[in-house]
Amino acid sequence: MEQTLMEKIISLCKRRGFIFPGSEIYGGFAGLWDYGPYGVELRHRIKQYFWDKFIKEREDVYPLSAAILMPERVWEASGHTELFTDPLVECKICNERVRADQPEAISDHEKKHSGEKMTWSEPRVFNLLVETKLGASEATSSKAYLRGEITQGVHVNFKNILDSMHPKLPFGIGQIGKAFRNEITPRDFLFRQREFEQMELQYYVKPDEVTAQETFEYWKQFALDWYYGLGFKPGNLRLRQHALDERAHYAKDAWDIEYEMPDVGWKEAWGIHHRGDWDLRRHSEYSKVDMSYFDEETKEKMIPWDIECSGGVDRAVLFTLMEAYTEDELGEEKRVYLKLKPFLAPVLCAVSPLLKNKPELQEKARNVFGMLKKEFGNVAYDDNGNIGKRYRRQDEIGTPWCIVIDFDTLENDTVTIRDRDTGQQERVPTGELVSYIKERLSV
Ligand code: ATP
Repeated sequence: MEQTLMEKIISLCKRRGFIFPGSEIYGGFAGLWDYGPYGVELRHRIKQYFWDKFIKEREDVYPLSAAILMPERVWEASGHTELFTDPLVECKICNERVRADQPEAISDHEKKHSGEKMTWSEPRVFNLLVETKLGASEATSSKAYLRGEITQGVHVNFKNILDSMHPKLPFGIGQIGKAFRNEITPRDFLFRQREFEQMELQYYVKPDEVTAQETFEYWKQFALDWYYGLGFKPGNLRLRQHALDERAHYAKDAWDIEYEMPDVGWKEAWGIHHRGDWDLRRHSEYSKVDMSYFDEETKEKMIPWDIECSGGVDRAVLFTLMEAYTEDELGEEKRVYLKLKPFLAPVLCAVSPLLKNKPELQEKARNVFGMLKKEFGNVAYDDNGNIGKRYRRQDEIGTPWCIVIDFDTLENDTVTIRDRDTGQQERVPTGELVSYIKERLSV
């Protein structure tokens, strides 16, 4: 049977050092994945792109990195201890628990018992927060939670940002970091994990419907454009408004950016939420610290409203891989390659000597490699196997260019540079390699 795209990607990720099952030598651990050398590079580049566009290139957004562990009181204030729940049902044959609102998970489980007479328990709510304890002894330790969303780390620091940075509304606080959810049915590789990363912006505005609506529209489009910037084909992403009964407890309005996952269907990539004053108001009430903002010009005191852009890093990695995965025929041979935008590629270019056992080719190749590595950083030296094998390996990693040093290089100081997508080779003077790559890197 033909593998699904997801299966092909999971297998490529393991074979080529992108992503491995968590704690694999102990049989794996559901909902947890470890990033290998190329996966971590790809993820890093996606995060950097978020950092650049949402934070670094702007004057109105401050970066933050808050702690993962937060006390119970934070989550009571944010409403998560009470309301951060999913419905679950339990199989009466094997006691496995499954999300009651996920038809695929239910039918996958029913298939395991085909031919048996199985029933489900009544649905009940299940809290997703991951709990732990901090403190040296049982008696003095206190309950803490690994954050279920990185958002709260921003809200609890709102006053610190006001007092230290003295920002004027509107302004934002951006953050990237791990979040943890005890998902009932972790599934679909990186899509639904128990430990994952989020990249978020909380953008605070004056509490006014018109301003909030305009800001909401602005960030919806900004986030969608950002996603397309990762290289998605037109039409493969869409914006969808949540129905009233889908919205999280804090949301006055909510839209998702969705990606059409091949073999699966439209799935959430980002959430853009109008959180109103929910978080700051609740933290003011629960902490007894005044979280209001004072407008020097109008002399008004107010609790700002928050427009949130909340993106999953790992979902961006998965969707980027799905979008980039390509099978074609080159020179009558089937091949697989990752059509990643060059700025995302874990390896920007690979340098090889045509033959491994010729010291003069090796020496020149090491020189070219050293020059490019100094300039770009993520450059590989690859002299394993024959040239054909190297091309295949670099194609699967998504390396945009392979540079080969051959006997002509020793004569006229030019190299061949092969384009990943077309397989075409060009001869380029060694001295022009850096500008050749730079020109194409920014596209
Ligand atoms: P879903 O409905 O798919 O459970 P959500 O609406 O609960 O997602 P949010 O709370 O809005 O998600 O979180 C913001 C983003 O964090 C999501 O758009 C998604 O990209 C990411 N995310 C949420 N849960 C997970 C998870 N279990 N694994 C990986 N990424 C996740």
